Amino acid sequence: MTHDLHPHAPLRLRDTPLPLIDKARIYVCGVTPYDVTHLGHAATFVWVDAATRVLRHIGIQTEVVRNVTDVDDVLTDAARLANTPFDAYAAMHQYQFDHDMSVLSVRRPDHEPRAHTYVPQVVALSQALLDRGAAYERSGSVYFRGAGVPAAHGIDDDDALAMCAEFGEQPGDPDKAHPLDVPLWRASGEGQPSWPSPWGPGRPGWHAECTAMALSVLGSSVDLHAGGADLRFPHHAFESAQAEAATGVTPFARAWMHVGTVLVDGAKMAKSTGNLVLVDDLVRDHRPAALRLMLLDRPWHQAWDYRPELLDAAEQRLDALYSAAGRRHDDGHTERAIVDLLLADLDVSAALDAALESGGGAARTLAAVLALS
Ligand SMILES: [Zn+2]
Repeated sequence: MTHDLHPHAPLRLRDTPLPLIDKARIYVCGVTPYDVTHLGHAATFVWVDAATRVLRHIGIQTEVVRNVTDVDDVLTDAARLANTPFDAYAAMHQYQFDHDMSVLSVRRPDHEPRAHTYVPQVVALSQALLDRGAAYERSGSVYFRGAGVPAAHGIDDDDALAMCAEFGEQPGDPDKAHPLDVPLWRASGEGQPSWPSPWGPGRPGWHAECTAMALSVLGSSVDLHAGGADLRFPHHAFESAQAEAATGVTPFARAWMHVGTVLVDGAKMAKSTGNLVLVDDLVRDHRPAALRLMLLDRPWHQAWDYRPELLDAAEQRLDALYSAAGRRHDDGHTERAIVDLLLADLDVSAALDAALESGGGAARTLAAVLALS
């Protein structure tokens, strides 16, 4: 790379500055490919893409890993209902997801590890945690000792148990020594995906899949770990606790990006409530760049309510950006100021306001960096 002799201030995410010299290792929790891509998924991946593009713009080499959770009970159940093998079912949904991401100009990640090809690494992780006394085996399953995890994240045990139950963690599993322990390896029953292991046939636990994929692909720690806000606990808390216990490297992630949840009439989108807003539907009547701008023109970490008027407003903001970009005005100073605004907690709204005001090169820079053209 060419080194800038007047480097920008580092990217700051909320209160965390993330100084980087040359490279950024970025891990983002990907989808469980059993369903359509909704606006909540799109928000997470568009934001991570924007952060990555800003870093690349200032000369940082990014290495992005976005996993595919293709071993998961919700996927297994959906595939069984569709009478399709789980891996074929996952591949079919993955194809649609990739299509939606490319429509939204989300760069393809450098690595897309699939959980079912990282089973040996989950076995190795489980063994490493057993060796360190951070895990124990019961009835063919291996559990990570999680009692201390909620307190480390400022969450009290009752809330933690409720959140674990919501994510199918089965706090009442009688094989657990403590209700907050989580499975690294789960003994498989009839009809469940199964691989051999030192503890008998089984399958990886959800958090352990991400721990194993992140450590395998990026090494003992990551610079930026991202995912939807609902993954903060239990998923990311246990994923990082497992990684730190296995490697001794702390922190596992130097910075976190938990992207704000997209709500509809105040409720989280869910197939069960029938309130999903699908990317595929929105891009039928709107420019993908407007959809991208609607997702980015707000604080990245705040939950927000989707309303169709917001997409119309984003169309207008996009037109304003394009006409500002057509103005003849270039000075390196305002272009640099735009990038500085983006580096300051990815403040796209402030950067867009400034670009609209100065026009010319500043507007073109913003459109280019955020892939809004
Ligand atoms: Zn994950």
